[in-house]
Amino acid sequence: MANEQLKEKIIDYAHQIGIDKIGFTAADPFSEMKARLKMQQADNYQSGFEKGSNAERTEPKLHVSDAESIIAIAVAYPSRMKARPVNKKGERRGNFCRASWGMDYHTVLNDKLNQLNRFIENLVPGFRSRIMVDTGELSDRAVAERAGIGFSGKNCAIITPEFGSYVYLGEMITNVPFTSDVPVDDGCGDCTKCLDACPTGALVAPGRLNAKNCIAFLTQTKDFLPDEYRDKLGNQLYGFDTCQLVCPKNKGVDFHLHDAFEPEPDKVKPELLPLLSISNREFKETFGHMAGSWRGKKPLQRNAILALAHYREERAVEELDRLMRTDPRPVIRGTAAFAIGKIGRRDSYRLIQQARLSETDEAVIAEMEKGLAFELVYQN
Ligand code: SF4
Repeated sequence: MANEQLKEKIIDYAHQIGIDKIGFTAADPFSEMKARLKMQQADNYQSGFEKGSNAERTEPKLHVSDAESIIAIAVAYPSRMKARPVNKKGERRGNFCRASWGMDYHTVLNDKLNQLNRFIENLVPGFRSRIMVDTGELSDRAVAERAGIGFSGKNCAIITPEFGSYVYLGEMITNVPFTSDVPVDDGCGDCTKCLDACPTGALVAPGRLNAKNCIAFLTQTKDFLPDEYRDKLGNQLYGFDTCQLVCPKNKGVDFHLHDAFEPEPDKVKPELLPLLSISNREFKETFGHMAGSWRGKKPLQRNAILALAHYREERAVEELDRLMRTDPRPVIRGTAAFAIGKIGRRDSYRLIQQARLSETDEAVIAEMEKGLAFELVYQN
């Protein structure tokens, strides 16, 4: 079968299985990315979640030795919930970013790419491929940009003309020489809304992210959250959407094309207090299918504690006190102490002082001191 005909068949099939956009590019090295990676590493701007050496991240042939092309896919996700959680009076809720709504996209996109792989295998004898979705060595964004899925915005997201930046990306390196598609023209122009809106200055320049300052990354860390970001977190439990929400290319964009990505309101905006005492089993049952659970419950609980501190929710103090005194995880004990101080209930400082008498962990004691320091702040 001629490659153009084969390409048409693949595009048709991809649409049938719910791939919203597909593009093709040669499996040439991503040479311009190498210099960018070196710069990011020199400036210590990487998150640490990246996989592979610089060569593995930029040379498709290291993954499929006879690689000829890469098929890039995009699957759209919604930006608005159809229903909101029903709030009881005084209830405080946290927030998961949109990319964590519904079923974990890694699972959904891997399934689609595996289906596509089987389809091509049946048409092409000797077909070889390697699939990647987010956690692979190649940059999904670099592939998508070159394969004509969208342009790379100043906010570092791929922006498609059809679905804005609300798309999940994945790719398949293949040994078939498909003709390449044409990249989408850059569409940011003079706009700088995402850079202006970033609360931590993580977008250090157009298209340049210091991942270590990015709230989306910070929500996924497991240690104490550095002091300077605690207020900026607000009620965010996982990820962060501001640089997408302010983007004019996303104005009015809200596609509900896949049931799998429909958010369950009570799960993507969960009540904060019950999260503090959730068991491992309950956590897995409630949140285990969501992308936002991949780091386990500790970062989400730490963020929930900070969200309660942000709201200065006095009704949380009993539960926070229990955590401060009895939780085996120093990050949770210490963050709870900080939160009790920040909430500033009448008995906050007595509770921290009492717990401090039996605390032996230096890092937790330091957090207790921070909690106690709020007393002076509120007095003045
Ligand atoms: Fe580009 Fe403006 Fe969107 Fe940022 S907000 S990605 S500058 S269009």
